[in-house]
Amino acid sequence: MLTDSAKASRVPQRVRNELRFRQLTVTAKSRTADRFWRIDFSGDDLAGFTSPGFDDHIKVFFPDASSGTLNLPDVTEEGVVWKEGARPVSRDYTPLFFDGVANTLTIDFYIHDGGVASDWAEQAQPGDKLAIGGPRGSLVVPEDYAFQLYVCDESGLPAFKRRHEVLSGLQLRLFGYVDEAVGQSYLGRLNGVDAAWMGSGNMQPENLAALTATLDTVQLPPEDYFIWLTGEAEFVKKLSDYFIEQRGCDATFVRAVAYWHQK
Ligand SMILES: Cc1cc2nc3c(=O)[nH]c(=O)nc-3n(C[C@H](O)[C@H](O)[C@H](O)COP(=O)(O)OP(=O)(O)OC[C@H]3O[C@@H](n4cnc5c(N)ncnc54)[C@H](O)[C@@H]3O)c2cc1C
Repeated sequence: MLTDSAKASRVPQRVRNELRFRQLTVTAKSRTADRFWRIDFSGDDLAGFTSPGFDDHIKVFFPDASSGTLNLPDVTEEGVVWKEGARPVSRDYTPLFFDGVANTLTIDFYIHDGGVASDWAEQAQPGDKLAIGGPRGSLVVPEDYAFQLYVCDESGLPAFKRRHEVLSGLQLRLFGYVDEAVGQSYLGRLNGVDAAWMGSGNMQPENLAALTATLDTVQLPPEDYFIWLTGEAEFVKKLSDYFIEQRGCDATFVRAVAYWHQK
């Protein structure tokens, strides 16, 4: 049994970061695996960028599709102020790598059908510009839980990759709603990861029962665990309910975040 102070040290910590908006320029683009484009950005605005949490997100602001204009807000003491009618479309993305010496930031975009962000990434070329805001807050999650279980689809693979790269040597369980060849190629070395590949496009509520039937056979320890659930919103919500309500997990150690909404 962990003592109370040991238990407290296991609780993920929220950290606030300075909110800044940054204008960035695409410097390189490469295909990492199947439908993932890796895009590198640079810009003097990246000075001071920080991302302490593996599943941090930045808001990525896209230029107006017809005019190409990219507006940035003012950050005032009253908060973020956008000029009238000038708020661009934004989506959440994981800052995958940041090189503070070269001031470069890397984001991996998964390409799916018909989205502003996905279409932008598919067509992006060196020299293109966009803006980012954040990460406004980070959750710093202890690394050495004895039991760690991750469920995600392609949208969560960048964050999982960040996590896995700093946890080398620890045992993780991954249920990846990704095609096996793509997941393996995207993540590279999978040392320490017990991965079950569930296939792309299968993170649908009607497939939840099949996952929970498998999870029913997984023994969860009474403490010192961390469970990370991301992907399609409804699926994630129901899976979170499964862990907390049916398996009796402590919600403090179950991190469930909707990464996208089925429309
Ligand atoms: C914290 C956080 C971090 C994220 N990090 C990343 C990341 O690093 N890389 C990444 O690729 N995505 C990431 N996402 C997911 C990304 O923000 C969403 O997929 C987003 O909806 C994409 O915007 P879009 O404009 O391309 O599509 P939208 O305009 O939002 O949606 C268009 C259509 O595509 C569908 N759709 C949207 N996303 C997906 C998807 N992933 N798979 C299948 N269908 C989809 C929608 O249901 C809709 O029908 C993250 C999300 C969050 C919340």
